[in-house]
Amino acid sequence: MSDDTNGVPLIDLSKQYNEVKEDVDRSLLRVIESGRFILGPEVSAFEGEMADYLGSGNCVGVGSGTDALYLAMKALGIGPGDEVVTTPFTFIATADTIFNCGARPVFADIDPGTFNLDPESVEGKLTPETRAVVVVHLFGQPADLGPILELTVPRGIHVIEDCAQALGAEYRGRKVGTFGVAGTFSFFPTKPLGGFGDGGMVCTADRELADRVRMLRVHGSREKYISDLPGINSRLDEIQAAALRVKLGRLDAWNEERREIASVYDENILGATVPSVARGVSHVYHQYTIRTGEREAVVEHLTESNVGSSVYYPVPLHLQPCFSGLGYGAGDLPESETACREVLSLPIFSGMSIEQVERVYRAVNRAGA
Ligand SMILES: *Cc1c(COP(=O)(O)O)cnc(C)c1O
Repeated sequence: MSDDTNGVPLIDLSKQYNEVKEDVDRSLLRVIESGRFILGPEVSAFEGEMADYLGSGNCVGVGSGTDALYLAMKALGIGPGDEVVTTPFTFIATADTIFNCGARPVFADIDPGTFNLDPESVEGKLTPETRAVVVVHLFGQPADLGPILELTVPRGIHVIEDCAQALGAEYRGRKVGTFGVAGTFSFFPTKPLGGFGDGGMVCTADRELADRVRMLRVHGSREKYISDLPGINSRLDEIQAAALRVKLGRLDAWNEERREIASVYDENILGATVPSVARGVSHVYHQYTIRTGEREAVVEHLTESNVGSSVYYPVPLHLQPCFSGLGYGAGDLPESETACREVLSLPIFSGMSIEQVERVYRAVNRAGA
């Protein structure tokens, strides 16, 4: 067993691995012995299993969650002259992929309760140049897709769902990633379904769009050595797919475990604002993120108790140095900027013991007392 008495890391993947070790190890060996490492039977099988899991669509395995976003936008033909609206309170990949497609990222503000895009703010950012809205289901909580789709569908604007943190989460009873024209996923090791390296996926109900992503991930070619489109090299490895197939079978149980840990935090954290969950969604708690005006003090108490924590995210994307050319300034998106100053993510992972959970909330409460 582990060293629970010595503290609590922000994330500990060893317990998850121990649960599936035998099956995972066997799958990895199977791939190594087969000698097939790129776009073989494991990736095809995993793509089919993900489509079944999500309950819709065609899934295409790619090299990372970042590439999934980039390739989905490329396949939609998004490029120079286009605007793509998104949130500034997310990981940089959500927006630098827009920029790398040649389009202009346009930032809308967030709802301070859920940290997700505020549909009203999105509405104010739509122009005749808007080609898409990239909706992020941040920390594992589905964004308010209904009102966003009501704004975008009649205008012919695409919705792309960045589901990197939210595989398995549901909005009104349906899995996220199946509402927009495409959903993108990351299999980075710490994400809800994590591999042993990088990996990603694009899911879409549109078969032609899926075909274009399939081409773009291998240099735009359908036939070997004939390229129809200028593409890139971005594929999910057979090794990753084999491991992810095993772990997909445990995903719902792991998501449920984190929900249970979150409910213990919800009931016991007194010294800070616990995350609020919108009606009609199931949150998978990729992160459990509190808000506090006393962040430094809370971090100090956590550190004293040997408890890990992290700030996701300290700088909103509209104020990132790489986007200084877009012309945003401090104060432009106040809710996002306040969130960056107040948020703190606490340890949450499957296999976390109740003693570890108690150690975390007690340290938070000591700071807030
Ligand atoms: C992790 C993440 C990505 C990028 O995924 P990678 O697999 O690391 O490239 C994109 N968007 C969000 C919101 C993420 O959390």
